[in-house]
Amino acid sequence: MEIRGHDASYRSRRPSYVIVVADHDATLPPPSRRNRIPVYTMRRWKGFLLATATTAQVKLHNRHQVLDHIYRHNGSSKQDIMRALNMSLPTITQNLRDLEADGLIQCGGFFESTGGRKPKRYMFNSLVRLSIGVRMTSDTVIVCAVNMHGVCVKRASGRLPYAHTDAYYHRICQFTNHFIRSLNVPSSTILGVAFCMQGIVSADGQSITFGKILGNEGLNTSTFAREIDHPCTFIHDSDASAMTELWLDPSIENALCVYLEPYMGGAVIIDGRLRQGSTMKNGTIEHMTLVEDGAPCYCGRKGCLDAYCSARVLTGHRNESIEEFFNQVRDDEYTHRRVFNIYLDNLALAIKNMRTVLNCDVIIGGQVGQYFTNDDMADLKQRVQRLDSFPDCSLTMRKSACAPDQDVLGAALTFVRTFVDEVCGR
Ligand SMILES: [Zn+2]
Repeated sequence: MEIRGHDASYRSRRPSYVIVVADHDATLPPPSRRNRIPVYTMRRWKGFLLATATTAQVKLHNRHQVLDHIYRHNGSSKQDIMRALNMSLPTITQNLRDLEADGLIQCGGFFESTGGRKPKRYMFNSLVRLSIGVRMTSDTVIVCAVNMHGVCVKRASGRLPYAHTDAYYHRICQFTNHFIRSLNVPSSTILGVAFCMQGIVSADGQSITFGKILGNEGLNTSTFAREIDHPCTFIHDSDASAMTELWLDPSIENALCVYLEPYMGGAVIIDGRLRQGSTMKNGTIEHMTLVEDGAPCYCGRKGCLDAYCSARVLTGHRNESIEEFFNQVRDDEYTHRRVFNIYLDNLALAIKNMRTVLNCDVIIGGQVGQYFTNDDMADLKQRVQRLDSFPDCSLTMRKSACAPDQDVLGAALTFVRTFVDEVCGR
């Protein structure tokens, strides 16, 4: 798309319209559907494609631009904004005043003076809203409150054996509500509660469609919404981890994420976005058949990848922790080294197979992944390259961010991303 003379090429006599003239055969992206008021309206005029914007649209666009700049830079002066956005000072001043009144930005001190008054530092108010992430596993519950910059501001955990019963879910609601009250913020500050689940979630994020690990198939968010006075949603734990991956490294474009957890999982990132697919089953690599008629999987089939590459494979027989297992591997203990070798071979075969469908980067994470050294990663890469059908195997493989509570954080980020995208007009 080529736009000629944006904002200045032609100004209608009616001051409420700014007209942007595009090339004769240009195609403009559709106005964002997320905004209440689209950025522009498309029209045709004498064979030209015109994008016209009303004053309200321009005003909203300016507000989004200013807020987006402050959000991304987190500490900008009026002059910074003016230089970056090529906007007039009165427009910026008015927008800053409005955004401050709405609580979206706040003054964060002053910059050093370059002569004259010290310029005010405008910051995005990261506590304007909070999002809650919850994780229920077989024996624990973790709750995190995440601010609008994706930072966990409070965390709580408790031991509670999972049971697919009303009594259990009632206790989870109590725990979550108590946690939210402890934040001491108005109820409207909480965007919602996102539960990261070991199970496949329905497309609307409201129910569990496959929950063999915890036996919670059919669980609906209404169970929680009865007691929690905020929007509730489910997200598959691997997808939640990938959300954090993307948040911490927005440069990720296309990647297959492999999470080597006690119950392993995967996720697919395409064009810088998590792609769960219409059935939310993209990246469910744990049930890729690796060995025909092989070891039994909890899904009821045999030979699934989970039976060969989950963390349980390394620790299950000896009842030791992942850390203890890797200590033995680093000491070159024969049996542990041998188990790890077989594990890496299986993982390499799985990665080779995955990359025949999506030939992109591979991110390795999870409880096992975080113990991988650079040598392990190089070793794994070599094993994949040896198996590759194409001699020019250009494989980029790296470790996951391995952030603390990565999946809980990622669950909460679903609400954060929606809110930030909306207020910044992305
Ligand atoms: Zn399976």
